[in-house]
Amino acid sequence: AKGDGKRRWRRYEASVHTAIVERLELRAALARAVSDRTFTLDYQPIVVMGSGAILGFEALVRWRHPTLGFVPPAEFIAIAEETGLIEAIGDWVLHEAVRAVAGWRQIRAGRATPYVSVNVSAHQLRAAGFVDKVSTALTAAGVDPSGVMLEITESALLRDDDRAWAELAALRRIGVRVAIDDFGTGFSSLSYLQRMPVDVLKIDRSFTSTISGSPRQRALVEAIVGLAGTLGLEVIAEGVESRVERDLLGDLGCPYGQGFLFSRPLAGAAAKSLLRGPTAV
Ligand code: C2E
Ligand code: CA
Ligand code: CA
Ligand code: CA
Repeated sequence: AKGDGKRRWRRYEASVHTAIVERLELRAALARAVSDRTFTLDYQPIVVMGSGAILGFEALVRWRHPTLGFVPPAEFIAIAEETGLIEAIGDWVLHEAVRAVAGWRQIRAGRATPYVSVNVSAHQLRAAGFVDKVSTALTAAGVDPSGVMLEITESALLRDDDRAWAELAALRRIGVRVAIDDFGTGFSSLSYLQRMPVDVLKIDRSFTSTISGSPRQRALVEAIVGLAGTLGLEVIAEGVESRVERDLLGDLGCPYGQGFLFSRPLAGAAAKSLLRGPTAV
């Protein structure tokens, strides 16, 4: 029995060791990926749920590790934030996304103008010169600020200092829109929400995926939509996977959405051909 415990501990020790080594290897590979720029972006349509018309696309970063294959962003973004690599990755994402929207606007010339929605981490907002980086990227690509929306998670907005809010306010003054990502998961108070420098609430997928089964969740979504209306904010539902969810959201007053029902995230070329098709606005 005594020996058993010892063996178990050895095994435990070995697995912790493996996990640490794997994480260190992943870090090193991520650092190389940053210098080699081996990331790509996928684009997921944001639509008018009633008609399917495309308003824009959310840019979602992808990383293919040489031996592990695709590593989910939820994993490598966390490592990138710990190591500070997120700044370089975020810069690349911003430039690439703005270049993409320039291309889309050529396709859609003379008609409605799609935007790109870019995820921004709290680190990027805290780093010096974020506003300049955004406006430089826009100028370089010849895109006007309405072509870009920035998504900041509710928790990042709540955690952060006045500095982040000031950066966002400055971006909004030049015409860039700001969305609160994963809204409903971060406990914003009403008075906070009223003062936040934002234009859009993205209702977290945890609400969308439970509205069909729960009257309570429906009431919550209805309250969020009402609140957004009162504050003059737009709402976009995330993670819409079924017609039932889409229809319920419509009934609750949420006109815009994003999710597998409409489209999975697409490679750049596929996003472009979608814009050439009939469903684009
Ligand atoms: P997020 O910003 O909340 O992005 C939405 C995630 O939900 C994406 O996962 C998307 O593929 C997934 N999704 C979209 N529709 C559906 C649906 O109908 N059902 C389900 N089950 N999932 C859906 P993804 O691409 O794995 O990204 C995960 C997270 O990684 C993102 O969550 C975001 O927090 C982060 N991320 C992705 N790209 C970037 C980036 O460029 N910069 C930063 N800072 N974070 C990023
Ligand atoms: Ca997002
Ligand atoms: Ca989200
Ligand atoms: Ca999320």
